[in-house]
Amino acid sequence: MAASPSRAGRRVRVVFFPFPYQGHFNPVLRLASALHARGLAVTVFHTDLRAPDPADYPSDYRFVSVPVHVPTDVVASEDIARLVMELNVSCAAPFRERLAALLAEEEDEEAGGVRCVITDVIWYSAQAAARELGLPALGFMTSSAASFRNFIAYPTLIEKGYLPVQEERRDDPVDILPPFRVKDLQRIETSSLADFASLLGHTVDGARRSSGLILNTFEALEAADLDKIRGDMSIPVFAVGPLNKLAPPIKSSLYQLQQDRRCLDWLGTQAPRSVIYVSFGSLATMDPHEFVELAWGLADSKRPFIWVARPSLIRGFESGDLPDGFREEVGDRGRIVDWVPQDEVLSHPAVGAFLTHNGWNSTMEAVSEGVPMIARPFLGDQYGNAMFVCSVWRVGVEVRVEDQLDRGKIQDAIGELMVNKRGKEVRDRMANLKEMAEKGIKEGGSSHTALLKVVDLILSV
Ligand code: UDP
Repeated sequence: MAASPSRAGRRVRVVFFPFPYQGHFNPVLRLASALHARGLAVTVFHTDLRAPDPADYPSDYRFVSVPVHVPTDVVASEDIARLVMELNVSCAAPFRERLAALLAEEEDEEAGGVRCVITDVIWYSAQAAARELGLPALGFMTSSAASFRNFIAYPTLIEKGYLPVQEERRDDPVDILPPFRVKDLQRIETSSLADFASLLGHTVDGARRSSGLILNTFEALEAADLDKIRGDMSIPVFAVGPLNKLAPPIKSSLYQLQQDRRCLDWLGTQAPRSVIYVSFGSLATMDPHEFVELAWGLADSKRPFIWVARPSLIRGFESGDLPDGFREEVGDRGRIVDWVPQDEVLSHPAVGAFLTHNGWNSTMEAVSEGVPMIARPFLGDQYGNAMFVCSVWRVGVEVRVEDQLDRGKIQDAIGELMVNKRGKEVRDRMANLKEMAEKGIKEGGSSHTALLKVVDLILSV
């Protein structure tokens, strides 16, 4: 039973510092919402690079902007490792300064106030700054437990020659990380693998020094990986997901993309489980050839679809530049939009399949809504997530062909998932997984209990 979340009549406050990417921002704000619902007060620190709109959140949330000074060419580049490291360097001092100011302000008031900081694990400099100020810091891993195990194993993966990935070893099993094959390992486009490894090293090191690690996953989904992490780290580890089921829908895009809500009305006119929802998250990019293959794969499927083709999706292309004859072919059967309220789309009964990049949030959202997936991973943890979806949980099929989509394979995958006998088996397994997710967040379930433990920990520090 959690202790009272107030001290001397004041609510205990938690400072959240999400990383300025949609896939990192959403789960941290969802956790904030879940803790707010359990009586804790919320202050959100955010970078001025991408700021949330306070109007989208409860009126008692406080927001604090942290200035970022990172060269624009680094922000614009696809070298995520360099950007993450530069952000850590740039934000450490202003974050510390603003946190100290908040603590000084609190000292003037009655006891209670700010008790702990929860940051993304990749904000390792902010974690260190909080500890310097005497505040306990909890780390939040926005991807899977298996992905965190990739982080831990990174130096060994390089030492043993699994990374960088060599073409002839792509299908080899990774002996220190079953069931990963070499091609499933975490990796990104970066000018330096050593930089990426160093970034992950800082991240794991920061997590080890934290007062606890929180993950957006659930025990029944990732029991073995969670156990391994617990065996390796001497801090409490809390699996509290799926967080999208514990918070209201996210109201806007961090990148100021127009959220198209009309597609929800359109979904209302479609038959149950008939629509393919297509989205590759907020970061992935594809070349024009793949874009055209995807367009025709969807058109040729003769199925209704919603396709999130945000402006940055296609390299060197405008999203309006659809292939000749495509619009005439699909008519009102296909909706092509910049951004949607994804949690609401996935929970709609008309949606029958999700063609996805397997970002971890999208994967968890699909699992918790019971929507089978067609996997086309692009980078980072997405390869490993897709492997779990297709080969371990077996709730999806993969369409990666030499790392490119191809119209025939898209059609085959859609047919397999939505029509064939195998599709029925996949759907049954997905219904089972959804049920397990629901059980976890109910009173007495593992995620519900873990969340209460997080509240207890915050109140006890
Ligand atoms: N998302 C959304 N609308 C869209 C596309 C994505 O709200 O049109 C949300 C999605 O629900 C998820 C997040 O953006 O919460 C993307 O995170 P994910 O980890 O799936 O992928 P990333 O963007 O980090 O690659």
